[in-house]
Amino acid sequence: MVKRILVVEDEIQIAKILKLELEYEGYEVVVANNGKFGLEIALQGKIDLMLLDIMLPEMNGIEVLRRVRQENELMPIILLTARNMTMDKVRGLDLGANDYMTKPFEMEELLARVRSCLRQNEIITNVTNHEEDLLSIRDLSINMETREVIRANTSISLTPKEFDLLVYLISHKNKIVTRENIIKDVWDYDYEGDTNVIDVFIWHLRKKIDEGYTSPPIIQTVRGVGYIVKEN
Ligand code: CA
Repeated sequence: MVKRILVVEDEIQIAKILKLELEYEGYEVVVANNGKFGLEIALQGKIDLMLLDIMLPEMNGIEVLRRVRQENELMPIILLTARNMTMDKVRGLDLGANDYMTKPFEMEELLARVRSCLRQNEIITNVTNHEEDLLSIRDLSINMETREVIRANTSISLTPKEFDLLVYLISHKNKIVTRENIIKDVWDYDYEGDTNVIDVFIWHLRKKIDEGYTSPPIIQTVRGVGYIVKEN
């Protein structure tokens, strides 16, 4: 996917060169010529990396950085600073800038840092996503990617349909789901009438995930209504 870079820079010439070079490298580039506008675009959430000048009209880069970090901790931000502004660099790094470049800079070096920041960000994002792939309740966890189900360090083997059913129940944990809900969402059809098939599947699933454990069963029956999966 094409990466989108926001350039916040009031010096028209520098902004223009940056845009040209970055576009030549295959990035999509958005330019903001003052801090306020830059902040606005940065917070819209479709920016993969920001190049942020510090001396800006409307709102200076340090303030833009501070406000972006309140909302977004992960977006890579590279500061563009004037040669003698050491204080700003320190302040900027303290406020969560990923890197800085001192003007005038070598374009090759800037591009290398852009690549490096994007790469690091991708690694972090992947780790975060993988954590989201884990679904869990009490001592039972489901890895959505490998479809592995583990309870108390023991791997449990489920049929594909049992797996879908368990994922559905856990995604709705602490809420009652009716047999009709399950038929519609897990079996994917409008089913009028007999829902006994659900009870059979639940029976098998319980045998696999609840039998032999002393704690209250994970899957509980709500008589006359349906089922509930409870955290405790
Ligand atoms: Ca400037």
